Amino acid sequence: MAKVAVIGSGVGGLGCAALLAKSGHEVTVFERNGFIGGRCSSSERDGMPLDNFAHIFPLGAKGPLGRIAEAVGERIEFVRHDPAALVFDSRRGKLNLWPEPLDMRPLAAQARVARNLGVRPGKAVGAARLFRKLLKASDAFVEANDDKTLEAWVSEYTDDPAVHRFINVFCYMMFTISYRRASAGEFIYCFREMSNAADISYPRGSAGAIPAAYRRGLEKHGGRVFLNDGVKRILCREGRVVGVATARGEAEAEVVVSNAGIDLTLELAGVENLGEEYAAAVGRLQYSGSGAVAKYYLSRRVVEAPAVIYIPDADARGMFSFIEEGGTPQDLMMMVPVVDVLDPGSVPEGRSLVIAATPGVAEPGSEATDRLLEALERQLFRVFPGMEREVIWKQVVRPEHICRATGRKRVGDSVGIAQIPGQVGRGKPSPLTPVEGLYLVGMDAGARGIGTWQAAASAERVAELVNRRHPV
Ligand SMILES: Cc1cc2nc3c(=O)[nH]c(=O)nc-3n(C[C@H](O)[C@H](O)[C@H](O)COP(=O)(O)OP(=O)(O)OC[C@H]3O[C@@H](n4cnc5c(N)ncnc54)[C@H](O)[C@@H]3O)c2cc1C
Repeated sequence: MAKVAVIGSGVGGLGCAALLAKSGHEVTVFERNGFIGGRCSSSERDGMPLDNFAHIFPLGAKGPLGRIAEAVGERIEFVRHDPAALVFDSRRGKLNLWPEPLDMRPLAAQARVARNLGVRPGKAVGAARLFRKLLKASDAFVEANDDKTLEAWVSEYTDDPAVHRFINVFCYMMFTISYRRASAGEFIYCFREMSNAADISYPRGSAGAIPAAYRRGLEKHGGRVFLNDGVKRILCREGRVVGVATARGEAEAEVVVSNAGIDLTLELAGVENLGEEYAAAVGRLQYSGSGAVAKYYLSRRVVEAPAVIYIPDADARGMFSFIEEGGTPQDLMMMVPVVDVLDPGSVPEGRSLVIAATPGVAEPGSEATDRLLEALERQLFRVFPGMEREVIWKQVVRPEHICRATGRKRVGDSVGIAQIPGQVGRGKPSPLTPVEGLYLVGMDAGARGIGTWQAAASAERVAELVNRRHPV
């Protein structure tokens, strides 16, 4: 049995803490915020649970998120909808609408999507080959394409602009970076897993129901969570971790699992312990993008779908260039979870809660975010006429709110280090660090997947590593 200190209560931190407590370790979680869950947290407003950000969950019940809860004797009820979303494809000023099926394996479903997207007849064979690869790729194929960009990989199959737009929008939803930067291998892996499980869902009780279940599992097995108790230093001696220091004092630990992100972990442990080479590698890492989110509480339901995916009228290559180059596009990509449909009963009878998210800069405090939020609202009210009149209240989320949830100061990244060539698969930072007994868990370490699924997959992997190296 080891004394384990976990820094941070995100999905990765709490998931790993609960698994280790279940295995018999003595586990304490230190969280700098006054709430658990990090980017997957919820708060409460008007008697309803409110996602602090904007989530839908690929691979909920059927992936590591559900598996961890089950392993620690808890249950998260994931509500599944099929079709999972309504796609609005804005092409040349015309809006095409179609429901997106969860199961893309049947050829008929693929043909329907291609038809809806407007794939040119002469390009249908290339598009079909691409979809077949996305659904059936082997792990070796995934790995072989890790260091290629997704744009380059798609171009090997087709130059059809409709397919490129579709893939780029999905890529942004999955990784919050454009397909021009994303790793093809990582996208293929995630698309294959997600489609084969045909599982996109929403936890009953909002995003925060996931960390809440892990906390119950942890406490049931003797673990503890200290809120408002941020770790100031990771204590190391002769190459080994010996504990953590918080404002309240020092706590001994043979194992420290850090969910604080790789850059903040380096600050906490110090270059003198992790080494110059490690610090230089951390300094070279690139982070995922971000965006702007606006939540609208409505006096009646205006959107009759679990979620809306809005494909903007822009070519794939230039779709997200405004993020680096400045300006606000005419037509914005939007992901819009409709909470009262996703989680029936969570919103007061007759009311509706719509969360609109759009890609944008990740730097906190940028004026570009103000302009983006204005454009997002204009577009939302244009696409859903009448919504404007039903707004009871509105709440916005900017990159600085993400910084508050993670503790990062310079970047309000949605999903940790970017899933780009060189930073995925074998190139992903290892959960093991140069300091004996110090592990990384969460988005920045050692797993594939989308958002919360990746954080939970990392939690499973780190729990296994710790159990192997520190048997109970
Ligand atoms: C706007 C937005 C939309 C998203 N959409 C989706 C989606 O649709 N689907 C999806 O699956 N995922 C989505 N995600 C991503 C998902 O929320 C994250 O990938 C996931 O929650 C990250 O988990 P993590 O384990 O890495 O921890 P984090 O959430 O990063 O939590 C880290 C925790 O560590 C704490 N911490 C940091 N430093 C210290 C310290 N020194 N001492 C103590 N504690 C510390 C922080 O306070 C925080 O609680 C979205 C994220 C955002 C922001």
